[in-house]
Amino acid sequence: MFFPSRPIFLYLVASMKIEALIRAEADHCVKCGLCLPRCPTYLKTRNEGDSPRGRIALLQGLATGQLQDSPALRRHLDGCLGCRGCERACPSTVAYGRLLDAGRGLLARSAPGAGPSRHERLLMHPRAAARLLATYQRSGLHRLARRLGLPARLGLGREDRYLPPPPRRRLRRAYYAPTCAAAPGGRPGRRPGGRKPGGRKQGDVALFTGCAGWLFDQDALVAAVGLLTAKGYGVHIPRSQGCCGALHLHRGDGAGARALAEANSACFNDLPVEAVLFLASGCGATLSEYGELHRLAGGPPLQWRVPVVELSRFLAALDWPEAAFRPLPGKALIHEPCTLRHVLRDEAHAYALLRRIPGLEIEPLPDNHLCCGAAGDYLFRQPAMADALLADKIAHLRDSRARWLLTSNIGCSLHLRRGIEEAGLSVEVLHPVELLARQADMPESP
Ligand code: SF4
Ligand code: SF4
Repeated sequence: MFFPSRPIFLYLVASMKIEALIRAEADHCVKCGLCLPRCPTYLKTRNEGDSPRGRIALLQGLATGQLQDSPALRRHLDGCLGCRGCERACPSTVAYGRLLDAGRGLLARSAPGAGPSRHERLLMHPRAAARLLATYQRSGLHRLARRLGLPARLGLGREDRYLPPPPRRRLRRAYYAPTCAAAPGGRPGRRPGGRKPGGRKQGDVALFTGCAGWLFDQDALVAAVGLLTAKGYGVHIPRSQGCCGALHLHRGDGAGARALAEANSACFNDLPVEAVLFLASGCGATLSEYGELHRLAGGPPLQWRVPVVELSRFLAALDWPEAAFRPLPGKALIHEPCTLRHVLRDEAHAYALLRRIPGLEIEPLPDNHLCCGAAGDYLFRQPAMADALLADKIAHLRDSRARWLLTSNIGCSLHLRRGIEEAGLSVEVLHPVELLARQADMPESP
């Protein structure tokens, strides 16, 4: 009689669990099709296999053994943005995100060996990558490489088009004291804008910086720390924090995502803080679903000791005086990242915050319910669809007379900025907190 070895036994048990999870979740889909008008890929191709209903049927077939893994099946599933617009629209509350993650896990098991992409490998070491990138950009090497056409020759032409200018400032410390009160240990925090200290310390929070955020969104991180410390919060930025695990989940590596989740929750749960704040909604969506990871990767459910909160929500709940922000005449459009709108369902707070800037006209970017095409590393994996979806956003911007486009997710920000630059539009792309900090006359560096 054949007895499988322990690793093979565990692998078989995990596979069976994932298949059962897919079958149970897919059974909730009544095939009504109400999600179809909310699916960006279906709206582009009009192919049922590119719709949520079609993809659920494919996953169902795969999990029940009625369908085999094939290039055609993968094409439809790999084409999914994971935007979860369908999930928000579904009257039967099908947890499409959970289904998709499980399906990707199943596909990864049927063709093992597909390791992390080069983008993922870069993002796994954000601090080292940030130092390298700073040297590359500030030394003139980047300009020279572009002049010689090296990025395109090395097959990095698309990546090069996404590279933002170097940040003006960056975070360097593991703790920033409140600027309106003495810091713990008696060392006074530095004051923003040279204003006199006043008020009292409100508490301590931690900041999840994210891997892409650390690399490409330092100006927004600096603005966030400036606003928080000015409002009396000490900000912890633990160096041992890592990637949230979203990219692992996108390629079906539930165990890798689980390992990162364990390390992150241990690192943040040890801090004496009242909340863990995040800027990038892509990271926040994954952090907020750590409690679900055991369904995919086994082990006990993970728990956060304190609430994990989107930064705009946290700031909007604070007490801001009438004249906290200088007037700013002009129009800003707000882009609502799918992770903020469909997963966290928390898109209202950036509007509430930005309405505190006198004179600023604020409107939603039209069709905010449809993904911009960034979707993690989708913008590199599926460039044709990513660019088609981006073109729709750029068409709306062209008609808008907006001076600013505000978005709370770094991936969307890079994608939209690239589209805007290549279309020759003069629209500045910022995280909402950057515009707030600018109007609050915040310091360049916290
Ligand atoms: S996922 Fe929901 S909305 Fe879409 S077809 Fe199934 S039941 Fe209907
Ligand atoms: S996650 Fe987005 S792209 Fe994928 S099926 Fe749902 S709506 Fe369509």
